[in-house]
Amino acid sequence: ETASTKPKSLPPRLRFDFRQPDSKSLKLFIYTTYLTLTTENIFVHIENSKKISILVFIDGFVHTIAIELFELVTNDITVHISTNSRGQIEIDLKKQNDQIWKTIGKFASNHLSVCPVQDFEPIYFMATLIKRSPVTHDSDWYTFSLPSNIFMLPPIGYHIRLRQSKDGILIVKPYTVVDKLNSEQNLSSDQTIELLIKHYTDRTMTPMLQKLNIGDTIEMSSFEGTFDYTKINTCKTLILVAAGTGLTPMFRIINYVIKQTENQVDMNVILLFFNKTQDDILCGEELQTISKQNKVIVHDILSRPGPEWTGETGYIRGELLHRLLPSISSTTNVTETLVCVCGPTPFSKLAIDLLKEHGYNDNCLHLFLA
Ligand code: NAD
Repeated sequence: ETASTKPKSLPPRLRFDFRQPDSKSLKLFIYTTYLTLTTENIFVHIENSKKISILVFIDGFVHTIAIELFELVTNDITVHISTNSRGQIEIDLKKQNDQIWKTIGKFASNHLSVCPVQDFEPIYFMATLIKRSPVTHDSDWYTFSLPSNIFMLPPIGYHIRLRQSKDGILIVKPYTVVDKLNSEQNLSSDQTIELLIKHYTDRTMTPMLQKLNIGDTIEMSSFEGTFDYTKINTCKTLILVAAGTGLTPMFRIINYVIKQTENQVDMNVILLFFNKTQDDILCGEELQTISKQNKVIVHDILSRPGPEWTGETGYIRGELLHRLLPSISSTTNVTETLVCVCGPTPFSKLAIDLLKEHGYNDNCLHLFLA
């Protein structure tokens, strides 16, 4: 979300078409006018080989294509963005039977509907836990594999939800999709989802997650979010203000920035990372490595420091921002700055107020909310 959410009018519906190039295949076409569309903007679900739902995330809105197909298809889903025609999505499907269909099938009632991302009810499917490894004393790295009837490569800064029922009540929690810091791993190369999850013994979801065995399944949702990572391309100063697990949206942002700087893109990156204790700092070693390589300036600020801590202490406050952030007059321009904020709600609210006092405005502030 941007710091101030202004209601926007609904964009026009997308156009849809299909073709059967031969008796075995089906091509679906979705026409948008969105020039920077990538496969990350698209989610595909094939239900029982018969119903296809395609979600297209454009500019804060979700467009749905939903069809009860004429006959069965396989789970083989190929998504292309056509390079010769701007913003055209092409989805290739394989039919189970070798025959030309008389029609595509029946359009569902929500076919070609459009809805703001924050009002959209996501699609759930079963994901399998394939790996879990510790990160700190109370957080683990989880790797889930996606079933073959799903296509999804969540965009930078987007989250999914995990859902489980306990005593007949549905428990739902959002988690930002992460990447290992400074890794070569390319999220789009495989159908897995990485999550960094802090366990809270006094809550419901994480004790259930800790009980999952490798190979167990859990309900996962299609992705959600509003962050536009292309804003990073045009900024000269990137300020990341994170508290606790609020670091998670910053992971893929940092990886993206490192790639940009390797491509000689000149960018000033500052991370202010607020935690209770030194043991709570997520991926501290990785952040130190990145910081030593001068890729990101990292400031750790502890609210409950041990006696050995010589670094910054306390909560976020004006004086701290004044000291650790470039003053607005010395940065070239506010329009060339992007400030991302994520953490517990009281922290985020305070951070946004203080950053505004410091001179940043809604145009350059992005607040991650789930
Ligand atoms: P935490 O309790 O360990 O606190 C981390 C730091 O936040 C503290 O050291 C302190 O500096 C600051 N803080 C906490 N309460 C504050 C207050 N009242 N005023 C000012 N500063 C305060 O944090 P945690 O347990 O890791 O929680 C992280 C939070 O981030 C969760 O609530 C989670 O939902 C949220 N989060 C949101 C997203 C998203 O929206 N996309 C992603 C990840 C995490």
